[in-house]
Order: sequence, then C-alpha cells, then structure tokens
Amino acid sequence: MKFRLIVKDESREPWHEDYDKSHINDLSEAEAWAKDTIERFNATLQPHETPREVVRVEVLDLEGDDHSWVKTNIVTIIDSKGNYDTVECASCGITGRRHGLGLSGIRRDRKFKALGYDSCKQAKVLLARREKRAIRLDEDSEDHQA
Ligand SMILES: [Zn+2]
Repeated sequence: MKFRLIVKDESREPWHEDYDKSHINDLSEAEAWAKDTIERFNATLQPHETPREVVRVEVLDLEGDDHSWVKTNIVTIIDSKGNYDTVECASCGITGRRHGLGLSGIRRDRKFKALGYDSCKQAKVLLARREKRAIRLDEDSEDHQA
C-alpha cells in the first residue's frame, strides 16, 4: 500500500515522505510502521540529526482505484424490485448488481458490503485475508478429525 508519512523535527516545518510497502495493508498498520521507523531513527541519531516526530500518516492512491465491472448475466434480470444485471469486477472478482444504467447504480453483494471493498486494491487485500482464514479453518477441522 502507498502511504504518506508526515514528520517534523524541532528545526523545521513538517515535511512528508511517501512509501510503498507491500506488507502494509491499512492505515493502522502504516501508523504502527511509521511509529517504529521514527522510534528507530530517534534511537540511532547521528550528531547532525534531531529527533523526529510523526505528525500523521495518510493513505495514498485508494481513491480512483475503481472496480472494472463486467456484466455476468446474458439477459437483464427482472424481479419485483425492477430490472438489474449481475456484475463482477474483472480485477478483484467481487460481485454485485447494477440497477438501471451507469456506475452509480452498482450495489455490491452483501458479503462485500464493508467499506474496504469500495477500493479494488483494498478488496484484493481483504479477499486474500478471507482466503487465508478459510484455509486455516480447513486445517483446524482436519485437526479435529485426526
Ligand atoms: Zn475490483
């Protein structure tokens, strides 16, 4: 995930440094990483350096990270709520429904309701986590059988 670390020290105005760390997936992980990094920096100061302080951490590039919806039904479905198409993101694979025309009409399926699924990139992260958890549960049930 790309994020921006805004830091300051006593001699300067705050400035920012941008990072892209594949093992960091959300803001709280980025904040923890920033805190550790700055603490390490402060613990190993060179004579010409002054201690730094984290001002804040911002997530970059989540906006504009749209899903690539493709229609998965052949014929538009008509039910009591009107007509709709079922759609799937060609990139991350989450599903939803498109009522009427246009992107504003997309409603993600219930299991992808969480805010994180707004972003295609974040959806992939969440799905990978879900998968990992499912594998763990499988392993657990094998343990019980053994
Ligand atoms: Zn997507």
